[in-house]
Amino acid sequence: MSKLSHDGPTTYHIHIPLHVLLSYSDKKLGEIVTHPDGVQAARAELREMQLMGMTVLAAGKCDNKNPDGSCAGHPSATKEAA
Ligand SMILES: [Zn+2]
Repeated sequence: MSKLSHDGPTTYHIHIPLHVLLSYSDKKLGEIVTHPDGVQAARAELREMQLMGMTVLAAGKCDNKNPDGSCAGHPSATKEAA
């Protein structure tokens, strides 16, 4: 994974704007996000997120999101953050 690091006490997931994801082809979108029901279901879910007022999708299994969907940060002890 990324070799980037910083000295802050909190790590953050990167995030991608939903409108950028939705502009991708099915093939490219499928390379970035995965959904058990396929890329069309993923696309539908991204649109739903937009309807809920979210603007970005945080990468990885982020469990601490801001209302806009971005990562709100994780204490440094969380090693799963990438
Ligand atoms: Zn996060």
